[in-house]
Amino acid sequence: GLILGIESSCDETAASVVKNGTQVLSNVVASQIALHAAYGGVVPELASREHLRNIVPVVRSAIAEAGIVFSDLDAIAVTEGPGLPGALLVGILYAKSLSFGLDKPLIAINHLEGHIHAVLMQSAPRTDGPLLALVVSGGHTHLYLATLTPSNTWTYRNVGKTVDDAAGEAYDKVAKLLGLGYPGGPWIDALAPFGNPAAISFRFGPIDTKEKDLRFNFSFSGIKTAVLRYIQAHAMQPEIEARRSALALTPDLPPKDAAALCNQQTLDLIASFQASVVGVLIRQTLAAAEAFGAKSIVVSGGVAANRELRERFHKESESRGLSVAFPSLALSTDNAAMIAAAAWPRLLANEVAPESMSAMPQLRLGA
Ligand code: ATP
Ligand code: MG
Ligand code: FE
Repeated sequence: GLILGIESSCDETAASVVKNGTQVLSNVVASQIALHAAYGGVVPELASREHLRNIVPVVRSAIAEAGIVFSDLDAIAVTEGPGLPGALLVGILYAKSLSFGLDKPLIAINHLEGHIHAVLMQSAPRTDGPLLALVVSGGHTHLYLATLTPSNTWTYRNVGKTVDDAAGEAYDKVAKLLGLGYPGGPWIDALAPFGNPAAISFRFGPIDTKEKDLRFNFSFSGIKTAVLRYIQAHAMQPEIEARRSALALTPDLPPKDAAALCNQQTLDLIASFQASVVGVLIRQTLAAAEAFGAKSIVVSGGVAANRELRERFHKESESRGLSVAFPSLALSTDNAAMIAAAAWPRLLANEVAPESMSAMPQLRLGA
């Protein structure tokens, strides 16, 4: 079965053709990162306009690169939410038109289920217990317990989430405070190995873990404030502003070359911030895995690209006899292959979208 996936929930216009839910024949992503970087975040109106400009060429390249023609497709899958309303609409209306014009079924996919399938399409989880999924991105830091239904689709139960900022948001805000580029994750990831992760101890207050209803929540706004206080207390502002100006002149500098623009104190702050965030993500996920008897963990979303998170997660899970899987780097951040992959079991179960399907900006995954 050939599925065309379309994703336009935020700042990536993406299309991909996936065969039988696992084989990626093409994976085209038009990123708007450069467009939004000047504003330090995604501007919704600009995003919609850019999706409109990109959607047709991106879908055409995905079809061409897959070496197929439109009539070869068995279904079209599209992200219905969550995301920016105007951005979602561009992908949905285009997918609906294609589905109507080609007379092929349309499958509506939750973006978060897509992120989880970015892992499941590449590695099958263990079957000796439920699956625990950590989706950690710019908009989410959520834990889901996933189980297979008799019709071979997954159902989800949300067992934890951030009570304030998402982890990716904390990366982006801290990078901005430190005069680094946007989005902040790749910059901090590249610079952390140059610093001492034990230099500063950022302690997370007791995280809201309600044992009686088994919720494993996160909170990341405190650490952002702690970084700001550290910067002020240590008069780091001149060094930060010098870096901000230098980077404004060389916006294409790869994050890995930015160490030369940082003094040791800044590098130590970066390493310590990352060690704390990674530490709390792993601790809370492992606690949830233990509580629910999950033996398999999948980690996905933009922050899953983080090298320290991958290394430490593997080490700490394997020492407990748990398996942990991440998507390939290309499938960690937003893409449409994960949308097409998530649609495959739903197509087999005949879960076709109703004609009334529309953008669901606040869509949640599971109960
Ligand atoms: P959502 O999926 O919740 O709707 P989103 O689409 O903005 O949000 P993604 O595109 O999946 O999220 O991820 C983007 C986020 O991932 C950004 O916050 C970015 O800083 C972060 N990120 C990307 N690479 C890394 C990295 N190597 N280390 C840490 N964070 C990273
Ligand atoms: Mg994005
Ligand atoms: Fe995403």
